[in-house]
Amino acid sequence: MLRFDDHLAVAVSGGKDSLAMLRILRKIERQFPKARLTAVTVDEGIRGYRAEAVKLAKKYCDELGVEHVVLSFQKLFGITLDVLVRSRKELSPCSYCGVLRRRAIHVGAKRARANKIATAHNLDDEVQTVLLNIFHGDAKRIARVEPVLVDPANRFLERIKPMCEIPEKETALYAYLTGIRFQSCPCPYLETALRNDIREMLNRIEQKHPGTKFTVLRSMERIRDYLKVSVPSIELKNCSECGEPTTQDICEVCKTLKGVVK
Ligand SMILES: [Zn+2]
Repeated sequence: MLRFDDHLAVAVSGGKDSLAMLRILRKIERQFPKARLTAVTVDEGIRGYRAEAVKLAKKYCDELGVEHVVLSFQKLFGITLDVLVRSRKELSPCSYCGVLRRRAIHVGAKRARANKIATAHNLDDEVQTVLLNIFHGDAKRIARVEPVLVDPANRFLERIKPMCEIPEKETALYAYLTGIRFQSCPCPYLETALRNDIREMLNRIEQKHPGTKFTVLRSMERIRDYLKVSVPSIELKNCSECGEPTTQDICEVCKTLKGVVK
């Protein structure tokens, strides 16, 4: 995942996973003089939630001596997530947020001139995403749940998930033991997501049958190899609205923002 001369943009939300990952990556980076880190935090505009996380992220970056960039939905897209979800109700808030946040992190990484993006998805996140794709009838997307995502056309930055085999409980333990101060209250939109039900179901099964989460991850790795053979590689075009790379005529970001009353 890592090269000696990487400039990593680390997506830092202010939660335990991303701060733990930042701490570990900073430790590694210190051993490589040509490596660089920039932490990127996205302020989605969630009242009573995001401000605290941004503050904690900023404080920890200062402590570690890591450059920190904050991008807001308001500045990038002219709208906060709170306003967006009030005017668009077709999909869950997480769907809209995910699309815009991915773009925001990419913009932040490009501005910092990073060559790779690291996100703190842990084992639980990955396994939830696999099942979520199946529950949504979107099995082909499993092919994209990968520890390293490289765009062969080089239009998107490479994305890596260094924590994808670490159970959430262990990142939490690491954060507590190393005294990291992180945001512990969950996002107010969390409950509306199907992901939440899948999380609870997986935790129940894992408790009764330890190792289940790893088994699902390994199964997915095998399925992915077959999926990749059968799913043709997609050609990227330029979004007719914003010019960013996309598989369709109009990118997901522009579709999300279309017709929204700001
Ligand atoms: Zn677009």
